[in-house]
Amino acid sequence: MRSRLNLTNQSVIRDIMRKFGFSFSKALGQNFLINPSVCPRIAQLGTDPGRPVGVIEIGTGFGVLTTELSKVAEKVVAVEIDSRLIPVLEYTLADCPNVKVINADVLKIDLLEVVRNEFPGMDVYVCANLPYYITSPIIMSLLEQRLPVQAITVMVQKEAAARICAEPGSRDVGAISIAVRYFSRPRILFSVSRGSFMPAPNVDSCVVRMDVGSDTPKGVEDEAYFFRVVRSAFAQRRKTLVNTLSASLGCKKASVAAALAQAGLKPSARAEELHIEEFVLLANAMRKEELKR
Ligand code: SAM
Repeated sequence: MRSRLNLTNQSVIRDIMRKFGFSFSKALGQNFLINPSVCPRIAQLGTDPGRPVGVIEIGTGFGVLTTELSKVAEKVVAVEIDSRLIPVLEYTLADCPNVKVINADVLKIDLLEVVRNEFPGMDVYVCANLPYYITSPIIMSLLEQRLPVQAITVMVQKEAAARICAEPGSRDVGAISIAVRYFSRPRILFSVSRGSFMPAPNVDSCVVRMDVGSDTPKGVEDEAYFFRVVRSAFAQRRKTLVNTLSASLGCKKASVAAALAQAGLKPSARAEELHIEEFVLLANAMRKEELKR
């Protein structure tokens, strides 16, 4: 489908703002894309050709990415929290009959039901230019609920992209890197300068694709506890695990030391050095130590 409006043109955007009395909300992370090459690339690289494809978009703004997604997908379901945008979208997406807009908070809506009801027989993808104020909660919510999607492709702040895709042992690795890698295979697709948005944010961005797989690490005895250990381990990343885990999990240093030994890790180990499989061994051993108490 082809929109009659050029939504990357700043004077078109200003016209729409005037027509609907719209102003950008900083609190909702409203920085709209105006670089014409970015949305077609997200739509192409965020989906795979071959089979009928359904796409969930998070945060439509005026619909600049939605329009591109509607060209590659059989159907697009777009979730937008800001009710002021609903009449705008009726206008901007009038030529995109395969788009359904839902006015909701993506963290509160039942996306599993959306996948089941809206995309029968389709491979489903998530694509979004995410509001930066809730990047991590949205990504973690999508992954933790094990939404049956092929891939999640999102634009995030450059620094967040580095953390999401960080390899163990690198400076950027954090709890989010381990959690994302637990559920998916992440990679940076391309970077986007701050001048590509209206209004321009103070940071540059990157588009990240996470291919969601069924091959989560084996041997995790208690998933909730595993993630508690990962979060606690990175709470004070410069400290040794003995210090940080005993403080944040409220257990004895001797128990952490015993768990590290059981996991085959050195007593001075730090969170940023551990691979995901080592976190699995450590969490299982920590759980055994805690159960002894
Ligand atoms: N897709 C548009 C673009 O690329 O120009 C807009 C992207 S803008 C960075 C983020 C959008 O997410 C805004 O339209 C904002 O209102 C919406 N949003 C913010 N929080 C949201 C939430 N919790 N659920 C759904 N949409 C949200």
